Amino acid sequence: MLLLTHIGRSVANWPSLFLSLSSSSRYHRRAAMAANFSGDGGGRATLRGVVFDMDGTLTVPVIDFAAMHRAVLGDEGLAAARAASPSGSVDILHHIETWAPPEQQKAYEIITHFERQGLDRLQIMPGATELCEYLDSKKIRRGLITRNIKAAVDLFHQRFGMKFIPALSREFHPCKPDPAPLLHICSTWGILSSEVMMIGDSPQDDVVCGKRAGAFTCLLDETGRYCSLESLADDQKPDFRVSSLIEVHSLLETHFDLVPQSLTC
Ligand SMILES: [Mg+2]
Repeated sequence: MLLLTHIGRSVANWPSLFLSLSSSSRYHRRAAMAANFSGDGGGRATLRGVVFDMDGTLTVPVIDFAAMHRAVLGDEGLAAARAASPSGSVDILHHIETWAPPEQQKAYEIITHFERQGLDRLQIMPGATELCEYLDSKKIRRGLITRNIKAAVDLFHQRFGMKFIPALSREFHPCKPDPAPLLHICSTWGILSSEVMMIGDSPQDDVVCGKRAGAFTCLLDETGRYCSLESLADDQKPDFRVSSLIEVHSLLETHFDLVPQSLTC
């Protein structure tokens, strides 16, 4: 049975940044759509594209982020960074942005080392292949945004034989949770962000990115860690939560009209 949590789309709760990123007409169009969209099947929204996170979403999580953060920041630095974060999570790329170049270079080397170790054990997430085949059969666009390096994306494409276009790695600035990469993909496709869904396993990165861009958001929560969404900040609360990519197929069929997008855009 589909495990689905639909969070009511209260326009009043949308992050103010969305307003600053959106034209007035687009805002009103989305507000009207939100008013008509409900989890009880009362309204169906148009969907033309899906953008995926990579690590922990299209691939099984293999990077030990806690160990990575500790290696970069040290025990005391990590504790201080966690204490300074309202959510207790650490955005390591953002954290090292202000470091002096030598320290920043060393930090990137440590991060890349952990990421390369993860590549050796890369596995496709259950349901990912089937979901992509389903989207292809409906001619729904597929894109990818990751905070990992381009080499990891290239290896992912080679190893699993499925292409995501565009696929933006951390060489694209600014990274998630900034909405810029998602808005860039929508622009490349010629599709409104309100007709796109962002799927990822991180409320802090993927959901925030999607919501700030004005897209639908789906949180992949394999372990039930976010069973109580109330613990999340408003801009981290997804529209949908699934425990497996296998559930996304039903979610899309139930709540959306999947509209093929010309591949010539
Ligand atoms: Mg992830």
